[in-house]
Amino acid sequence: MDRTFADIAAALNLPEFQPGWVWLVGAGPGDPGLITLLGLCAIAEADFILYDALVDESLLSLAKPGVGLIFAGKHAGVRTCRQEDISRLLADLAREGHRVLRLKGGDPFVFGRGGEEAQELARGAIPFRVVPGITAGIGGLAYAGIPLTHRDTNASVTFLTGHGADGQLPAHDWPAVAKASPTLVFYMARKQAAAIADALMVAGRASHEPVAILANATRADQDVVLTDLAGLAEAAAKSPAIAIIVVGKNVLLRNELDWLGRMAPALNPF
Ligand code: SAH
Repeated sequence: MDRTFADIAAALNLPEFQPGWVWLVGAGPGDPGLITLLGLCAIAEADFILYDALVDESLLSLAKPGVGLIFAGKHAGVRTCRQEDISRLLADLAREGHRVLRLKGGDPFVFGRGGEEAQELARGAIPFRVVPGITAGIGGLAYAGIPLTHRDTNASVTFLTGHGADGQLPAHDWPAVAKASPTLVFYMARKQAAAIADALMVAGRASHEPVAILANATRADQDVVLTDLAGLAEAAAKSPAIAIIVVGKNVLLRNELDWLGRMAPALNPF
């Protein structure tokens, strides 16, 4: 297995990362093995990498010597770069003729402001490519042994954020949300967990409905807690900060399908 990234890119006919381009790349939810091949090859070719706090830093060790590494995330909840500054920097570096990689946790177009960054690039006539990643609300469930859909439990899923632009719970149409899908997947919802549980119960979801809190999903410190809507507020208060909240009967399939927990310790990489 001594093939280089260049060999892989050539064999698969992957697009070349050209100077003057920005690639918005999803790094996946945590486990660095979950990045795509396009993303991996882009890391190896990039001149500058602007990365978020949720990106596993071991991926950066694959960058070429002399690469410019720029942290563009939050430290202890405090944003070190403003969104406008990040967008401007992406455009400026591309105009200078660099290959600019914007590496974001999960998928760049799922609750991560990648859409806004792409709009800025489009408005500035900067050429860009979007490389999707495995979003936490999909990959996290897989690592928790929770099928996102299953014929016995749910034929649809709704993805929501628990964090509006003002930091408060967004004004979702709760009666509609409660009826929309048997399974609801919430991002950025830990702080508003009590309000979410109340809103769903008022809108008709049962207090004993199963809930999973997936914290640090797919990482070595993954932490999965099963509770119900009535217990969500208390369980979320004890959960690590980075978490997905899943509401629905499919959560109980974990009791049968927790493949990670069932692995013999010697095989379990975590
Ligand atoms: N673009 C990202 C989401 C960014 S918003 C994606 O597609 O996954 C940040 C939120 O994503 C976090 O507050 C949390 O709700 C969720 N998240 C990201 N990585 C996670 C992980 N490893 N475990 C649990 N939740 C995660």
